[in-house]
Amino acid sequence: MAHSRLHALDIVQKRTTERIEAPSNKISDYFQTDVFSLDQMKASLSPDVFKKIKQAIDKGKKIDMETADQVASAVKTWAITKGVTHYTHWFQPLTGATAEKHDSFFNAQKGIEVFAGSMLVQQEPDASSFPNGGLRTTFEARGYTAWDPTSPIFVWGRTLCIPTIFVSYTGEALDHKAPLLKAVEAVDAAATKVAQLFDRNVNKVNASLGCEQEYFLVDKALYMARPDLVMAGRTLYGHNPARGQQLDDHYFGAIPSRIYNYMKDFEIESLKLGIPVSTRHNEVAPGQYEVAPLFEDINVATDHNSLMMDVMKRVAERHNLQVLFHEKPFSGLNGSGKHNNWSLITNTGTNLFQPSSSARENLQFLVFLVNTIKAIYDNGDLLRASIASAGNDHRLGANEAPPAIMSVFIGSELTAVLDELEEKGNIKIDKGENMYMKLGIDKIPQIILDNTDRNRTSPFAFTGNKFEFRAVGSDQNVAQPMTILNLIVAEQLTDFHKAVKAEMDKGTDKKIAIVNILRDYIKASKKVRFEGDGYSEAWEKEAEKRGLPNVKNTPGALEAFVSKKSKDLFAKHGVMTAEELEARNEIYLENYMMKLQIEARVMGDIALNQIIPTAVKYQNTLAQNAQNLAQLKLDNKEIVKNIELISGYTKDLTSLVHEMVEKRKELNKIEDMHERAAKYASDIKEAYFEKIRYAADKLELYVDDELWPLPKYREMLFLR
Ligand code: ADP
Ligand code: MG
Repeated sequence: MAHSRLHALDIVQKRTTERIEAPSNKISDYFQTDVFSLDQMKASLSPDVFKKIKQAIDKGKKIDMETADQVASAVKTWAITKGVTHYTHWFQPLTGATAEKHDSFFNAQKGIEVFAGSMLVQQEPDASSFPNGGLRTTFEARGYTAWDPTSPIFVWGRTLCIPTIFVSYTGEALDHKAPLLKAVEAVDAAATKVAQLFDRNVNKVNASLGCEQEYFLVDKALYMARPDLVMAGRTLYGHNPARGQQLDDHYFGAIPSRIYNYMKDFEIESLKLGIPVSTRHNEVAPGQYEVAPLFEDINVATDHNSLMMDVMKRVAERHNLQVLFHEKPFSGLNGSGKHNNWSLITNTGTNLFQPSSSARENLQFLVFLVNTIKAIYDNGDLLRASIASAGNDHRLGANEAPPAIMSVFIGSELTAVLDELEEKGNIKIDKGENMYMKLGIDKIPQIILDNTDRNRTSPFAFTGNKFEFRAVGSDQNVAQPMTILNLIVAEQLTDFHKAVKAEMDKGTDKKIAIVNILRDYIKASKKVRFEGDGYSEAWEKEAEKRGLPNVKNTPGALEAFVSKKSKDLFAKHGVMTAEELEARNEIYLENYMMKLQIEARVMGDIALNQIIPTAVKYQNTLAQNAQNLAQLKLDNKEIVKNIELISGYTKDLTSLVHEMVEKRKELNKIEDMHERAAKYASDIKEAYFEKIRYAADKLELYVDDELWPLPKYREMLFLR
């Protein structure tokens, strides 16, 4: 088997790459051609039906069956011209992948292609194997997918894909999308009320999202020779290469042609699907890259991120590449994240996080800025829970970017503004005076956008006209963190609005009331603001002093998710019931535990089946050599030393693997899922993974390169 590595290396040497040509030099010629877009609808539906669809999209109005029938018929006609034969309800169950079940348009009884409104609106996938956390008992295993008209229908391959939400027979959410839609509604309602304090024309606030997606690429042949990558998505073994990322020569460097062709290929596919990809570059680690689309409405951006990840995986096959979305595929190198750029934009076109030259608008800007900071301060634990996963623990729990401590970075200019406001908040404003000037908020420099010192170590940073949630994992469905972010901001804005109204009822001037409350919030949430190096040990100590939570692993982080406070919050805004939260918590814990279990098994298998036999073989060769030397009365001390090292590490490896297996058997008997998951973290992962890996990685250094069975880091990272 050693030779699967050599064989793979041979294949990689012979790879060629094909130049990818776009359908046209102008992206606008092929952008959205595989989407049943608004334009497409307008062209193919009667004005009456189009109006109803538009209302459903913009205002959440219900769609009647007659309208659905007309849309279905138009979609079918459009899809058939594109060579489509099947349709599917496309959804995002809690497995972390997207799901689809294809049904043919062809109806054999009628002998024609059929697609009725009822098929568009609802489907009943056999859902018993999707995670449900006990929400569905097996005798009531039905789940429904329901069309979400706010996200456009698209064609992928030969299949018509209808974005849907996925709920149980009794209406509980079984997917990532349903809660997101509700949280987005909640933040719309709360933010609209607050924005109306400044502008009565505002009647809707849309949350926007732009995701920067990081990923690694590895040659397919090398990938296939690494059971750990195939089974666990990350390398469980592998000695650090002599050259890693210390030269910093990869970041923003020239993109190798094979990679470039892959990028271009998946970008073309994404653009056809209406995903507005716009940025590509090399990332910090060798073999690591980033892609970012332009921001969109949060619901669409969330679907687009999941879809783009699917597209990236499938297109990689054509290029004999494997894309790795795992948060930490290679130890010792940077992990991958997914920066979530988030803002709130009114129907009148104002970005509520955009500082402006108008003093009045700036007060509004400060209201949204400060309320968001306060929301993070009050709910840092919940935000941490929203990004908890086995993969992300490798970033958040380790001393790597960003830390598990939820803090907010706003830059020195805005810090000065908030400080001044805090200090001067008590100032009495006389009639006719310019309050804005007196408080120093008359001119927040517009240049902030270019000016914000880019603190790359903050998990939650203000970057000019948006917040950037950087702690999100690269492999995560962003719906979960975005549900929680929008929910906590909705809650905060609701409180704020209530407080302003109460002051106004007492006869306080509106602006004064707003400023007074902001000042209280600035003081109350000051501890969550941090401008320094988020990766430093000093910050960990400082954060502890400030009382900010620093939860390092998933089972610990998830506790916040099912706290009384969290349940009340979710229920108050109608985002999820206590039962739904409990179910989700159960699913996440089980998923976490299973991931560690798989990693532990794969570690054991590779050690026993590949590494130890290889080490023994080489040890025998050395032993033979030592004997030969002795016979010839030559000095064999150094050889014997090597044999001792190899046999020592082999012994360690063997006994540790056996010990870990025994421990697993013990833990698998624990009934309570939280306890089992927590024990898997402490008694399996923390107790064994590093130690086992250490012995194996040492062996990689000592054993003959020709014999070593697993592609090495230098090969996976530098050969392409
Ligand atoms: P970087 O953070 O690397 O400097 P950019 O500033 O170019 O990158 O933006 C990264 C992402 O943020 C892109 O997806 C971009 O469309 C998105 N973005 C820009 N402005 C906003 C906004 N107001 N709301 C949400 N996302 C935004
Ligand atoms: Mg960014």
